[in-house]
Amino acid sequence: MLEFALISSQNALYPTYEPRIISEEETFAEQQKMLKLAQPDSNFSSYNLSVIFNEGVASVQGNLSVDFYNNDPKNFTRIPFHLYLSGMMYETKQGTIEIENVFDQENHSQILSYNVYPNQQLMWVNLTKELKEKERASFVIQFTATLPDGPYDRANVFGYDSNQTKIFKFTGFYPIPCVYDQEDGWNVDPYLDVGDPFYFDMAYYNLFIEAPKEMIIAATGQLQEKVSKGSTLLHHFNPVYPVREVTFSASRYFQVESKLVNGVNLSTFFLPKSDELWATYAIDNAENALLLYNSTFGTYPYPTLNIVEEYTIFGGMEYPCQIYATEAVDTYSYPLSINRRILEKIIAHETCHQWWYNIVGNDEVDLPFLDEGIVVWSTDYYGEYYHGTWEYFQMVTRYIDRVRTYYAITGLSSKINQTAYEFIATNTDWVFIGYYKTPLIFEKLRQTIGHTNFINGLKLFFIQYEFKHAILSDLQKCFEDIIGTSLDWFFFPWFDNPYLPKYSFGEVEFDSGSNNLTIIIEDNNELLNEYTYRQLVPLAIYNNNGNEIYYEEIWIDGTTTINLELTETPYKVSLLYDNYVLVQLDDPNDLSLDLYLKSIPDGIPGYDLWMILVFSVHVIGLLIIFTRRNIQKNKK
Ligand SMILES: [Zn+2]
Repeated sequence: MLEFALISSQNALYPTYEPRIISEEETFAEQQKMLKLAQPDSNFSSYNLSVIFNEGVASVQGNLSVDFYNNDPKNFTRIPFHLYLSGMMYETKQGTIEIENVFDQENHSQILSYNVYPNQQLMWVNLTKELKEKERASFVIQFTATLPDGPYDRANVFGYDSNQTKIFKFTGFYPIPCVYDQEDGWNVDPYLDVGDPFYFDMAYYNLFIEAPKEMIIAATGQLQEKVSKGSTLLHHFNPVYPVREVTFSASRYFQVESKLVNGVNLSTFFLPKSDELWATYAIDNAENALLLYNSTFGTYPYPTLNIVEEYTIFGGMEYPCQIYATEAVDTYSYPLSINRRILEKIIAHETCHQWWYNIVGNDEVDLPFLDEGIVVWSTDYYGEYYHGTWEYFQMVTRYIDRVRTYYAITGLSSKINQTAYEFIATNTDWVFIGYYKTPLIFEKLRQTIGHTNFINGLKLFFIQYEFKHAILSDLQKCFEDIIGTSLDWFFFPWFDNPYLPKYSFGEVEFDSGSNNLTIIIEDNNELLNEYTYRQLVPLAIYNNNGNEIYYEEIWIDGTTTINLELTETPYKVSLLYDNYVLVQLDDPNDLSLDLYLKSIPDGIPGYDLWMILVFSVHVIGLLIIFTRRNIQKNKK
């Protein structure tokens, strides 16, 4: 169907360059020559990050050449940068970014003053003159970044040379410019424990890494050149298009597989010990992900994409043009087929972040759920596309079951539309929101507006916000543009209400003369929420023989009165929750809300003891309902 060019031998496409030999003295001139390769669009900042990797102490000595473009209608006298490494988890050695010097790009002897605030993981560079809109400020930040140790966080060094398992993973390892926006001003948030608290502008990058010859380097961007410097090699990576940040990982032991997929050089990097799990399999999954997301959302523009094994307590983590998947899967005691499904899910998920996080960005501190929710939905769509069901990866618990019983189990509210700080302050479970509830709401939207409209909405979102930032209402607007009508009624309650609806039957009346049935359905949680829910719910009515005499999906809009003309006397009225009806449930298996209208069938001699029992139970049930209703009325 689509391009499929398997090149199975290792290193077939990576690396492709024979190193040239140059002297120590020529290095700087060579770098300057390489720098000219980038042709920055005037609307983006441009960074040249040049690091020398010191394997022995797991650190890099770096120069970040900043060419900062002011795209805001605001004058700046200083620019803030994140210094994230010290916020990350470690075993015995904390991560650090030490700032050594800041000087003018042109005139190296002109020093710029700066302030470092370790608690906020922040530095401010004071500019030598005011930076106006559409102007550029150029300077160089010299720094040393040391990785935290232990197998925990996004950046680290872990593993051993003795058994060929050591990996150095450099993420958030250089001063990353903060984003200025109209809403927040400078976004100077420190590294937070909720979500992936990153918010970066797109920029052109050149990444130069000097490392020992034997190191195999996976990095953001296309390897444009390798230059030999005796015992080390200088690698030049260029993503070609703007990215939000860069990363690299180095190991002496990485095995590499590569394939060309839709013009992208796709590569996997994994440890020898993980060969059985990763070889062929990981790259095939990455290929499937790239093909599906390319055709579904829009084209991945970069020339490379790497899938790299990492040590972490997470499943994996996304960076532009390079994603990581945890080595822990390889240690799970499940059968290989289950471990493979877990790895496939991680690869499908993190690959999808290239579309939602990198290409289309959002403020992950203010809207942590936005890219995460779309990515989780999309990962399950990958499951549906390749394995037949949207629930393929929901191996332990289906989202729908977890979401409907969440309140019964935890007693917690679960509003989606909160900032990372609000998640912390309101004690809302981020994992539940990001990985269960938000994707489920997107699935509900697909079922509500239809598959084609839903996909077209995501395509439009991609086209409109490629290389930009978006907020939730931008996404809503894209779906509205596709279907031609407002979706406030959908987005406001499902994203902003803290509780799901919980339906009950109010008054029910059957007129045996006209065969008219009137039912009032109430949402017991209506007063706890700001917005009224509106959803389609199947309503079934049965006669006293248990035969269905009516079935229709009805809109329930807060407290709703239904009038029906029936052909027979009804016995039981049920709201059916067996599809994706979103309600608060006490029991995940109790998937209908039932009301019995006429318990004793016509012709009394025919009824048996069982019917009397049923009758008694439901009379008690009705009494409870009516009593509750009276209590509620009295409260009003
Ligand atoms: Zn994610």
